[in-house]
Amino acid sequence: MNEIFTGSFTQQEPIPEDAIEAALNVLRHGRLHRYNVLPGELSETAVLEQEFAAQMGAKYCLAVSSGGYALATALRAVDVKPGDPVLTNAFTLAPVPGSIASVGAKPVFVGVTEALTIDLDDLEAKLDQAKVLMLSHMRGHLCDMDRLMQMCDAAGVIVIEDCAHTMGAAWRGQLSGRQGAIGCYSCQTYKHVNSGEGGLLITDSPELAAKATMLSGSYMLYERHLAAPDPEVFEQIKYTTPNVSGRMDNLRAAILRPQLRDLDQQVQRWNERYDEIERGLRETPGLTIVERPDDESYVGSSIQFLLLDWTPERIAEVIKRCAARGVELKWFGGAEPSGFTSRYDSWRYADSAPMPASDRILAGIMDMRVPLTFSLDDCRQIARIVRAEVSAVYQS
Ligand SMILES: *Cc1c(COP(=O)(O)O)cnc(C)c1O
Repeated sequence: MNEIFTGSFTQQEPIPEDAIEAALNVLRHGRLHRYNVLPGELSETAVLEQEFAAQMGAKYCLAVSSGGYALATALRAVDVKPGDPVLTNAFTLAPVPGSIASVGAKPVFVGVTEALTIDLDDLEAKLDQAKVLMLSHMRGHLCDMDRLMQMCDAAGVIVIEDCAHTMGAAWRGQLSGRQGAIGCYSCQTYKHVNSGEGGLLITDSPELAAKATMLSGSYMLYERHLAAPDPEVFEQIKYTTPNVSGRMDNLRAAILRPQLRDLDQQVQRWNERYDEIERGLRETPGLTIVERPDDESYVGSSIQFLLLDWTPERIAEVIKRCAARGVELKWFGGAEPSGFTSRYDSWRYADSAPMPASDRILAGIMDMRVPLTFSLDDCRQIARIVRAEVSAVYQS
């Protein structure tokens, strides 16, 4: 009898009780809008920004309606204009090129390596094509951030970091999102904190923070922020920065604050699960483990492995067999975007030149979510199933 996994790859943990209490408190007083405060009252949203800025060691923080909105706001804040080229990863998710398209700009895709990070040689060759890099730390893999920042600084290219999968991760001890000019995070259900939808943006630049705040729709109420620059900075930009409403509300902020306090502990729990699955997959014939560099502290909220140079038919067979045993694998190489997967040439609104070396890797990327509702036993079982099915197809 083949063992079958019966857990759900999309089931989160419940919202913590103290977060539920805080949410109920907001519901009971009814002041959900972030600027709707009693005299002397601090809104949940403003306090969330203050706390997240402190947690990240950033000067400024802005809470917004989604991760994708944070990315688009960052692009607007650094003055990306319609028609401008913006460098970005070929291996990422749809909201990243989508944010570039949303400001009328054009993604210029940069290749992916076997480490699933941006190809720094390809980036170096393309640095003269744009003034901004939207760097997606896709699936939590951090590239050599020292080399990347050195290259971009030397070329005068502004780096915006998409940290949707790296909230709590670090490169050589520096938290992810602190290397570039702006770091953007998602608080959507499948990320590292869960308010259904939501985003956070951090920066040390007073000008970028002021512009982002105006852009998010601050109705000139920016003095009610606790992690924003001084009013004088707003004076410089307030008449020339449009309102593109995308604020966070107090209900979401109330839910997020207790979760952010638990982040380090959650990261540890994710990594226990990740490491268990990785251990179980090592030395499976035909399967390539994605090795993590020593300089990277990751958050194992998902795991990837490669079936490099496998035919699409055999990969499809592995997916089918694993699915029959309850294990949901996502395949980034599929010809059509499905669910949360997609690849650069499926975003047909953006031109892309073929990238054969990246195509080879994308075609072999297998991806699995690792929700915290999995026990360590679940993780061992999942690894046994994947190992058995990959081996069976490989040897057939
Ligand atoms: C989820 C995600 C985003 C955007 O987040 P939303 O909150 O869903 O808009 C951006 N980049 C990546 C890589 C993501 O996975």
